[in-house]
Amino acid sequence: MSSLVWIDGKLLAKQDAKVSVYDHGLLYGDGVFEGIRQYHGKVFEKEAHLQRLVDSARAIRLQIPYTIAQLGAAVEETLAANHMRDSYIRLVVTRGPGYLGISPANCTAPTVFIITDTIQMYPQEMYEDGMAIITAATIRNHPNSLSPKIKSLNYLNNILAKWEAIDAGVPEAVMLNHLGYVCECTGDNIFIVKAGILRTPAEESGALVGITRQVVINLAGTAGLAVQETSLTRYDLYTADECFLTGTGAEVVPVTSIDKRTIGAGKVGPVTRQLMEAFHRKVRQG
Ligand code: PMP
Repeated sequence: MSSLVWIDGKLLAKQDAKVSVYDHGLLYGDGVFEGIRQYHGKVFEKEAHLQRLVDSARAIRLQIPYTIAQLGAAVEETLAANHMRDSYIRLVVTRGPGYLGISPANCTAPTVFIITDTIQMYPQEMYEDGMAIITAATIRNHPNSLSPKIKSLNYLNNILAKWEAIDAGVPEAVMLNHLGYVCECTGDNIFIVKAGILRTPAEESGALVGITRQVVINLAGTAGLAVQETSLTRYDLYTADECFLTGTGAEVVPVTSIDKRTIGAGKVGPVTRQLMEAFHRKVRQG
């Protein structure tokens, strides 16, 4: 377990790394973040994560008081201070302390902190045997209301769908968008395989544009697999040959049941297995 947290330029012991109760990140979910992995001493897809953080911040008019290079250096400094080689990094930028009103204009200094820790999102057997998931009744935020492309500190939309998964006794839930098309899961993107073609909701579905999703699309391209970024319905999920989820924490995790329908043969399918192996080779090589 790591013990030093980087906060506003200082490395503090975990118990001393604190934010104000007036911080609008806490009061209003006003802030953005990234979850990043480090494999074998190297930060995975560092530039893509830092760019997404900056884009999320721009979208909510939050000015991060550091450059991308400085943020990258701060991440490396925190990892080194904690002697981390394989870790899960949480990089958070909040609007900072203000008054009790929601106005972000009264918050003068954003709070920036970096935690380096470890994560095991799902139990190991789910990577071997596949996972059961459900489709949630809670729809994903309308992209013109609060775009899910913004990785913000306000995860209530996802949390409400996560409750549905918990109630159903499964670890994850698929959320549809405002048009009824498949969007993404509460913390992962979703792929299916049908007749040899890899299919995933297009960016226009309103999902978070996952970095692992893009890595998997690239790996599939390298392997000569056809990839479609498209509109998918519940029907497409239920009739898929294979299904899997992607995310920084989850990596690539197979799905073998959705809403009690068995997907394909009910086992980890060959394309999923191939991509899981390609993903593990890639992270091993850095
Ligand atoms: N969708 C949501 C809602 C997420 O929170 C995440 C990250 N946990 C993802 C998708 C996957 O994105 P990434 O591969 O960049 O981690």
